[in-house]
Amino acid sequence: MLMSLLVVGSVGIDTIETPFGRVENVLGGSATYIAAAASFFVTPVRLVAVVGDDFKREHIDFLESRDIDLEGLQIVKNGKTFRWGGRYRYDLNARDSLFTELNVFEHFNPIIPEAYRKSTYVCLGNIDPVLQRRVLEQIEKPRLVIGDTMDFWIKRKNAELNETLKLMDVLVINEAEARLLTNEPNLVKAARMIIHIGPKIVVIKKGEHGALLVTERTIFSAPAYPLEIINDPTGAGDAFAGGFIGWIAKSDDLSDDNIKRAVIYGSTLASFCVERFSLDRLKDLTHLEIHDRFREFRELSKFDEEVVVQ
Ligand code: AMP
Repeated sequence: MLMSLLVVGSVGIDTIETPFGRVENVLGGSATYIAAAASFFVTPVRLVAVVGDDFKREHIDFLESRDIDLEGLQIVKNGKTFRWGGRYRYDLNARDSLFTELNVFEHFNPIIPEAYRKSTYVCLGNIDPVLQRRVLEQIEKPRLVIGDTMDFWIKRKNAELNETLKLMDVLVINEAEARLLTNEPNLVKAARMIIHIGPKIVVIKKGEHGALLVTERTIFSAPAYPLEIINDPTGAGDAFAGGFIGWIAKSDDLSDDNIKRAVIYGSTLASFCVERFSLDRLKDLTHLEIHDRFREFRELSKFDEEVVVQ
């Protein structure tokens, strides 16, 4: 059977400041990064999102060039696309949201096209948890639902988010958000608390410190790729989710070993994403580069047991 992947989330326009530069009105959005990253593994990725008619043709062209199916992309007449501004300081793990203009997102009703309703894998990018749930109500028995969220929703829609979590199989979340969601500083304990709510697999992203995978049976710690050039951490978490779910959808294997592999593919895509601003690095990324970096990840933490010489 051919596997299919549906991605729902934000598609937007970002303004980003990092110690290495500033870009204005560039392509962004959670679903954009997820779909672009996943498109290196499965095509066409099905995208459901909303933009206004101010959304530039060049962005549509880029999404199409990645073989992303845009049947589910709503374009609102006279509408303004979602806009977000963020600033990073020297600690690239911490950022301030400068503004969040929901615009067309405020009245977004995610309508899943008929052709997408039997999607095998579903990735719920960071949007209102109420909308995430509305998406799931329209899908017929997906094999795996993976979701993301952020502090914005944890603070504003906590009860709704808890309801949505019960419907997710995998939660991908960053460390600050995991602590905020559970009120628990220890990440292993926090992951276990999330497992107790619903998702049986929790991946906690720790920025430049890698990612922690916790399931009922295993704990796996993946390093981050030690990059010397990082320009813009925006979208790293989403690129991670895209690489992770892209690999799982391609391999259609939910064994623990394969989920660990998916964590490394997620880390690989995230590591490329941050090399340049916006989605620029994903524009010329090749399968060979992904393959090579995946292998480098293996070398990074491979070691032998001590040989005791008698
Ligand atoms: P990440 O760096 O992986 O957390 O994702 C950054 C992307 O999320 C940016 O490109 C933003 O456009 C988008 N974003 C920021 N805030 C929100 C929000 N409240 N809802 C949906 N998407 C958002």
